[in-house]
Amino acid sequence: EVPEVLDPLFPAIHAGSGKEALRFGGRSLTYAELGAAAGALAAELPAGRVAVWATPTLHTSVAVVAALLAGIPVVPLNPKIGERELAHILADSSPAQILAEPGAELPDGLAGLSRRDIPLEGAGAPPAEPDAETPALIVYTSGTTGPPKGVVLPRRAISATLDALEDAWQWSAEDVLVHGLPLFHVHGLILGILGPLRRGGSVRHLGRFSLEGVTRELSTGATMLFGVPTMYHRIAESVATGEELTAALRRARLLVSGSAALPVHDHQRITAATGQQVIERYGMTETLMNTSVRADGERKPGSVGVPLAGVGLRLVDESGAEIDGRDEVGEIQVRGPNLFTEYLNRPDATVAALDNGWFRTGDMATHDDDGYVRIVGRKATDLIKSGGYKIGAGEIENALLEHPGVAEAAVTGEPDDDLGERIVAWVVPAGYRPDAGELADHVAKLLAPHKRPRVVRYLDALPRNDMGKIMKRALG
Ligand code: ATP
Ligand code: MG
Repeated sequence: EVPEVLDPLFPAIHAGSGKEALRFGGRSLTYAELGAAAGALAAELPAGRVAVWATPTLHTSVAVVAALLAGIPVVPLNPKIGERELAHILADSSPAQILAEPGAELPDGLAGLSRRDIPLEGAGAPPAEPDAETPALIVYTSGTTGPPKGVVLPRRAISATLDALEDAWQWSAEDVLVHGLPLFHVHGLILGILGPLRRGGSVRHLGRFSLEGVTRELSTGATMLFGVPTMYHRIAESVATGEELTAALRRARLLVSGSAALPVHDHQRITAATGQQVIERYGMTETLMNTSVRADGERKPGSVGVPLAGVGLRLVDESGAEIDGRDEVGEIQVRGPNLFTEYLNRPDATVAALDNGWFRTGDMATHDDDGYVRIVGRKATDLIKSGGYKIGAGEIENALLEHPGVAEAAVTGEPDDDLGERIVAWVVPAGYRPDAGELADHVAKLLAPHKRPRVVRYLDALPRNDMGKIMKRALG
């Protein structure tokens, strides 16, 4: 049962207030200016879909808002995209036009598409509000577990998820967001740009994430920070010595982390230095946001909180039967108005992903008595079956990161004659190189003997994608 969404996506834009909506570097747009520029562009867009060259700029934001106002689906493109992935996305989504900031150099792969530069001025009223089920965005997944899939997101899912976050985070028009994320994934685009615009708040985008930028903006009136764990890791490494950063973080109303698990050790270091507890939320391209720690709720490091308003969440075993989930790990399934419509051109994949209206997330978790969800890892890569035990990579990674000689850690399983699978730790040393026995003993002491890594491999850096997610399929 999908509720009707009667609200336009952007009530604040229509209100035409003189308030600053978006600021990127030295340039900003008020709500009135944004409404006029996006309204004018909306009237000129071709039928079909449009691709947007999603640089972290005002132009990208105006282009996306314009297309949403016009009811034209947007395919945001990573400006660092490689040739093969670009060719795949173009063939898959067949956009009618590419929208780009004036002067942006586009790759040869886009040469066959008509290009439209995006002016930041213009005068135009938005056309009539499109239907709630109109596809708004086609966002490609991060490609962590396989080739990226095009996820068709209707307006209904976007407004539902943003309204649930308003409730969970007490998110208001008074909030000013510090934003340093890319604009071609759900996190940076839907939460980071469309969220504040729906609420009537303001965004200050850093262009590129930096500790200086976070310090500057939180010291001058910004109230919230959205980040991925690699950003909070940099913050955790700096808070003990960076007085200005620490003071700035203390002022924040809300620090939010998502897109991957926030290591407990980083969370604890930030809390110790600033008194702030980072809020974790869990979501994915197909479902938008599923759970979050609430602004007024208890914070539990290592937990992604409770299901958001309107989201049904259950844990199931390998046969698909619902389990209690307090003592046993299960796969998370979710349903609600936050769900996507389909994978583009992949009816089989869409059918396979759904179980009677419940979306199979592929993420494994438990929950506690308060309903707080604790993600163990992904079914495909993070669940290791060793010696008769099912072991989650995440808790071993967290334990390794508490060792002073470990800067980064990833844990995988590999075939083993005796154990079925053996635990392999991939470690980026910090300062000195702790030996394998020392690390294995450290894990065994903190967790349990059967969770000890049998093999330790040392790397200079872990393979990560542009959201900072560890690409486990590139290990080994
Ligand atoms: P692909 O589907 O192409 O393999 P992906 O799953 O990484 O890539 P996204 O949709 O961007 O693509 O990411 C969603 C996934 O990110 C979730 O399924 C989950 O595994 C992970 N994730 C998101 N937030 C959190 C969080 N707070 N803690 C742990 N994992 C998270
Ligand atoms: Mg996925």
